[in-house]
Amino acid sequence: MTKFSDLSLDPKVLKAIEDTGYETPTPIQAGAIPPALEGKDVLGIAQTGTGKTASFVLPMITMLGRGRARARMPRSLVLAPTRELAAQVAENFETYAKHTRLTKALLIGGVSFGEQDKLIDKGVDVLIATPGRLLDHFERGKLLLTGVQVMVVDEADRMLDMGFIPDIERIFQLTPFTRQTLFFSATMPPEIERITNTFLHAPVKIEVARQATASETITQGLVQFKPSRRDRAAQEKRTMLREIIKSEGEACRNAIIFCNRKVDVDIVAKSLKKHGLNAEPIHGDLDQAHRTRTLDGFRDGSITFLVASDVAARGLDIPNVSHVFNYDVPNHSEDYIHRIGRTGRAGREGTAITLATPADEKQLAGVENLVKQEIPRLEAPELPKRERRPRRGEAPAEEQAAAPREEPARHEEPSSGKPPRRNRGRRNEPRDNGPVVGMGDHVPDFILRSFS
Ligand code: AMP
Repeated sequence: MTKFSDLSLDPKVLKAIEDTGYETPTPIQAGAIPPALEGKDVLGIAQTGTGKTASFVLPMITMLGRGRARARMPRSLVLAPTRELAAQVAENFETYAKHTRLTKALLIGGVSFGEQDKLIDKGVDVLIATPGRLLDHFERGKLLLTGVQVMVVDEADRMLDMGFIPDIERIFQLTPFTRQTLFFSATMPPEIERITNTFLHAPVKIEVARQATASETITQGLVQFKPSRRDRAAQEKRTMLREIIKSEGEACRNAIIFCNRKVDVDIVAKSLKKHGLNAEPIHGDLDQAHRTRTLDGFRDGSITFLVASDVAARGLDIPNVSHVFNYDVPNHSEDYIHRIGRTGRAGREGTAITLATPADEKQLAGVENLVKQEIPRLEAPELPKRERRPRRGEAPAEEQAAAPREEPARHEEPSSGKPPRRNRGRRNEPRDNGPVVGMGDHVPDFILRSFS
């Protein structure tokens, strides 16, 4: 088996690796580091959790050890799709370059230009950036990319999803033709294939096992449930989520809960909080300082439940997440793999439970097709009986508390002023049948009169 010491890395880098306690390179590291050190282009098909960040950070530090930074001309460039991922790459640099004197700057939205400008003016060895922010700096004339010797593109398929490909192409064109490129993507859709054919020179291709097959430490489960009525679906789904969390008991130390839509991220977090669970939302509309605070809180255990959108949570490396809950079946099947991969990291046990309604049939088939298995069906916990019948035109109590004001009243009956036909004459039915939304207890008698 390959050891780190077999990889011709700088002794200072080896010392930093030793400090972390890692003993053997992961397959992507063993595959990518040698050709990278030989100056070859690398195409790494690997996901987060495989150790891919170190697979480019370690050779970069080794190669940058020879030579010096020049003002405004970074010697290497790492592009990441989100601020969090860029910050994570920067952390990796801190860890592995701690015995060297290499300098870095982080160019991400939400962090002031001023300080980063100063660093760049002085000269940095490594520039880590999101594409948009990098181009902002470039256009302000603060930065020259003609000194870039090594360029890394991380999570290229996510860049594609986020519409960054034109930016990436432009950045490629701003860097010297002779640069070395290390390019990483979890998947290879045609557009990414085209980019690699255009900008990489005879790359060494390394593909590591998909996480979907590799992560045997993740126990997956699927809870299928059918809402009792369409207008109650969202509320019942939130209740179902709480019941599933409860049924996991103490095994659920913390969790990331994924929603497909940002608006649901906020509603679900608010609803969990209202029911006494320690939850916070994270999505792209929250400012950077807020997102960082929330993530730090989740990492240090002061926040137990992180309710997240895919973009905000993609690639986050948070060790020790016991559970992932998919409040929604993801629209893109690939996201299922990314989501569940937030748990069961580094060989630990993890649980991933997905909630699905009959409306999710198509997406669920897509996911199961991709992971090449049927996700084991779990018994749905019973929903608790509702406490109070809502009044006419009033959303159920929990709904009111959870839904932000600006959200349209999606779960209410149409407000024609008249009660819906199907409810006429049902006033004396037993209460167990649930509330009669739109009528409640206050139905004027004339409405119940028969006209036949
Ligand atoms: P990444 O795929 O870069 O997001 O890395 C996933 C996790 O694996 C991170 O927590 C790394 O610190 C960790 N890691 C990286 N390399 C190794 C290694 N050789 N052995 C064990 N863990 C590693």
